[in-house]
Amino acid sequence: MNIFHSCERAAELMSQALDEPLDLADQMRLRIHLKMCGNCLEVEKQMGLLRSLTTQLGALALDDDAAPLNVEVR
Ligand SMILES: [Zn+2]
Repeated sequence: MNIFHSCERAAELMSQALDEPLDLADQMRLRIHLKMCGNCLEVEKQMGLLRSLTTQLGALALDDDAAPLNVEVR
């Protein structure tokens, strides 16, 4: 089993993880790579940050939908 992924593969897995849950083997490989690779760990932190930001933005957008402004359009 090759657990020593390249950084490119690790980045792929990280962005894939944003869209769908990784299978257990990929999760483990990614974890192991992140333990060995400071660069990818940074990338993951930033992705997590970005993700929580977009989640917050998404929540805001949903709030707007939930409370539409009463604007009459003629
Ligand atoms: Zn790496």
